[in-house]
Amino acid sequence: MKVNNVYAEFEVVRDFSRCINCRLCEKQCANGVHCYSAEKKTMLADDSKCVNCHRCVAVCPARALKIVKSELTFRGNANWPDEVIKQVYRQSETGGVLLSSMGNPKEGPIYWDKMLVNASQVTNPSIDPLREPMETRTYLGKKPQRMERNPDGSLRLEHTPGLELSTPILFSAMSYGSISYNAHAALARAAKELGICYNTGEGGLHEDFYQYGSNTIVQVASGRFGVHKDYLNAGAAIEIKIGQGAKPGIGGHLPGAKIVADVSKTRMIPEGADAISPAPHHDIYSIEDLRQLVFSLKETTGYAKPVIVKVAAVHNIAAIASGIARSGADIIAIDGYRGGTGAAPTRIRDNIGIPVELALASVDERLREEGIRGEVSIIAGGSIRSSADVVKAIALGADAIYIGTAALLALGCHLCRSCHAGKCNWGIATQREDLVKRLDPEEGAQRLVHLVTAWTHELKEMMGGMGINSIEALRGNRLMLRGIGLTDRELNILGIKHAGE
Ligand code: SF4
Ligand code: SF4
Repeated sequence: MKVNNVYAEFEVVRDFSRCINCRLCEKQCANGVHCYSAEKKTMLADDSKCVNCHRCVAVCPARALKIVKSELTFRGNANWPDEVIKQVYRQSETGGVLLSSMGNPKEGPIYWDKMLVNASQVTNPSIDPLREPMETRTYLGKKPQRMERNPDGSLRLEHTPGLELSTPILFSAMSYGSISYNAHAALARAAKELGICYNTGEGGLHEDFYQYGSNTIVQVASGRFGVHKDYLNAGAAIEIKIGQGAKPGIGGHLPGAKIVADVSKTRMIPEGADAISPAPHHDIYSIEDLRQLVFSLKETTGYAKPVIVKVAAVHNIAAIASGIARSGADIIAIDGYRGGTGAAPTRIRDNIGIPVELALASVDERLREEGIRGEVSIIAGGSIRSSADVVKAIALGADAIYIGTAALLALGCHLCRSCHAGKCNWGIATQREDLVKRLDPEEGAQRLVHLVTAWTHELKEMMGGMGINSIEALRGNRLMLRGIGLTDRELNILGIKHAGE
């Protein structure tokens, strides 16, 4: 007799007094949890397949469903939490690496929540953003140390043109393939309407989205999927992806099942073939090598586009950033260890890297100390959850922030962390046609526009409260932050005082 030690994590609870046997839940669940028993004339559920995505709960016309966490427990053991025991069972069953999606769900210090923002009182009065202008426009790229003029009086612009954003928020890299066509369409349309940028990730750019080029960051990752001259010239900026917060030090893997015809064409790889990007760029083993790639990309695009270098937040991030600033790159993107992903080995996602708050503070500090802060802008990402996180990130030294998970939530994601399975019931992280069409790109774009608009309003309110009327004046203004419940060492790295000081 085969014994199954891998139990259901969730239980489907159906209120049979409400259920009308319409079978909508059965049609909507791509995981095949619900089914109708003609013999028993009732709905049944296979709980073991449920990932708690809430799709059936949301569509049930009778409000008859809820999903609860299984109460099945192991005997309490502080050394061996239930989750760890289950993982050992799963690995001894399959012999495989545990895979996960989205960001690190483990408890850990969230420094955003341990920092408080200042407000003006009595002197240095606050500013009312409803009545006075408040500048959220942001320019990313090299900042000239001095303004110089040509003999005819015009400004001399020696640097690569910067990236102009209406507000310091960008949609972070999510590739076509890991997310659906409709999800990409929603991000592209929203970026255009908002005057910000979205990012292709490492999957190339679908021909339909070239029209959004001035709001697109095109990524060059180690696999070079979909990278060609027209692609590089299509975007407003080019991002070299060295690392990602959710999986520092390793490459990417998009399963062949997600490489459908259109994805294969966009990535320039065979249909159904696994898209495996190598851990390193095979042409980058030093800052000099990185510099060669930066300038190859600039040469290809006529020195008209800023180049971003994206790295994961790791132990010696300040030194790494200093090297990147000297490589000729215009922008550094730092991705913290709580950042999301379409698929990553669980152990790597949950144990490698450092919080973006500490990485950001130390990078900004180091670049200032070395007198090269103006050489690069900094984008911080990796679990930015609200406008308050944005304010704190900018005060710590970021010029702008990337949002990924928050953008997906706006599109309807329920953080079930099953993107890698390709059966996203919300039409986001899937290539199955029947599922993709569940996401209306127009409605999705509007929800993204609402989210970023709301955050920008809040940003202005908080800046006004501090008596600050521009992002430029907030950037790196750590006097506006105070720590709460942090050690001296943590305060020192963050470069802020404790509340009360
Ligand atoms: S969708 Fe709701 S009402 Fe319809 S079968 Fe499922 S549980 Fe019953
Ligand atoms: S996987 Fe989602 S749609 Fe399917 S039963 Fe669970 S919550 Fe409902």
